[in-house]
Amino acid sequence: MNMSNKTLEQIRIQLKRLIHSDSFYAKKLSGIDPDEIRSQEDFQRLPFSEKNDLRDAYPLGLAAVPDEDIVRIHSSSGTTGVPVIVPYTKKDVDDWALLFQRCYEIAGLTNKDRIQITPGYGLWTAGIGFQLGAERLGAMALPMGPGNTDKQIQFMKDMRSTVLCATSSYALLLAEEINKRGCKNDIFLRKGIIGSERWGEKMRNRIAGELGVELYDIYGLTEVYGPGIAINCSYNTGMHYFDDYLYFEIVDPKTGENLADGELGELVITTLQKEGAPLIRYRTHDLTRIIPEDIPCPCGRRYPRIDVILGRTDDMVKVKGVNIFPGQIDDILKIVPEASSEYQVFIDHENGKDRITVFVETTAMDENKLRFEKNLKDTIKSKLNITVIPKGVAIGELPRSEKKSTRIYDYRY
Ligand code: ZN
Repeated sequence: MNMSNKTLEQIRIQLKRLIHSDSFYAKKLSGIDPDEIRSQEDFQRLPFSEKNDLRDAYPLGLAAVPDEDIVRIHSSSGTTGVPVIVPYTKKDVDDWALLFQRCYEIAGLTNKDRIQITPGYGLWTAGIGFQLGAERLGAMALPMGPGNTDKQIQFMKDMRSTVLCATSSYALLLAEEINKRGCKNDIFLRKGIIGSERWGEKMRNRIAGELGVELYDIYGLTEVYGPGIAINCSYNTGMHYFDDYLYFEIVDPKTGENLADGELGELVITTLQKEGAPLIRYRTHDLTRIIPEDIPCPCGRRYPRIDVILGRTDDMVKVKGVNIFPGQIDDILKIVPEASSEYQVFIDHENGKDRITVFVETTAMDENKLRFEKNLKDTIKSKLNITVIPKGVAIGELPRSEKKSTRIYDYRY
C-alpha cells in the first residue's frame, strides 16, 4: 500500500516528538533526522521495535509525554514475567473510544443495542475498551466481565442483550450452555463481537448457529490502544482498519523485508496520533496480509483491510524454502471438496530433503479416496507451491484439539 503524504507528515511529527522525549525511542532513533524521512522507502529503513524493547523500558520508559499528561496506564503480561506498561493521555483514551465506536458501527451496531461485555476489566485493555466504545456509540453497556455463566445467561435474558462481546472460547461455552438449558428462545442476541484470536471455521459456525448471531472479528493489542483497531464488516472480506490513526506494513517474519499487498507475513504497526506511547514499526508477530486496494469492499468504506489473523509467526515453519502456517492449510481445506476441517501435517527428512505428509479427514473413502488425495495434492501445490504426500483418513480418525499450533509436527531436528 502506498504511503500517502499525509501519513508521512504524521510520521515525521511522531518522530520529532519521540526524539525530544525521554522515551526509549529517543535512544533508538538517535542520529535520525525526521525531516530526512521523505518517502516510504526512507520510512522502511527505520529500525523495528519489539515487545522486548517495551519490556526493557519497564516501568514507564515508554512514556513520551510528561507525567501530568498521563491519565491511565494499561499493561500486557508477558511470558517472562516482566509486564509492558502502556501510558495513555486523555487524547489516547478518547481516540481509542472513537476507534472502538467505528468498529461497532462497521459491525452494524447502533445506540439501540445492549452490549454484554464479558472480557475482563482491569490492567488488561479488553473489557474497558469494549465499554468505552459502547458508551461513545450511545449504546447500553453491560459490564459483566468474565465468568459466572449463570449470571451471564440471566442478564442476557432479563436485560435482552442484543450483542455479546467475548473470546471465541467463552462465546462457545455460553452457546453450548444456552443450548443445554434449552433457553434459546429467551435470548435476543443478534451479533457477536469476538476477540480475534485464531479460531477455526468450524468453531465459528457452531457459535453462530447455536446463538443465532452474526459474528465479527475484532482485532487489537494492548501496545496499540487495545482491541478495537480493526474489524470485519458484514461482507466479511477482511478487517477494516483505520489508516488515519495507524500505518500497517507486512514484512517477511524472517528477513524483515517489506512484502507486497496480498502477500502473507508479519503485521508491523506504526501509530500516527498516539501521544502517551507512540510506536514506530512495532512487530506484532501476528500473521496476516493486506487486502489489495484494487478489490474494494462492497460496503463502500474507504478504510483499508487486513485479512483475519492467520496465526503467530512462532507457529510458522519453513519447508522446501516456503513458509507455511496452520491457517493456510485451514483455508485450503475449505476449497477442497469432501475435506473436513481436521488435519495434521508431518514434516521429516528423506535422503536429506524435506518430506511433507498431510493427513486430512474426509468423507471420500474407498474408490473415491485416490481422487480426493490427488485433488488435495494439486490444490496445495497450486496454492503454496509445495509438493506433499496426501493422505485421506476417515472422519474421527485424527485426535481432536482446538489448538491449531499443534497441527504441524516438525520432526526434522
Ligand atoms: Zn466492508
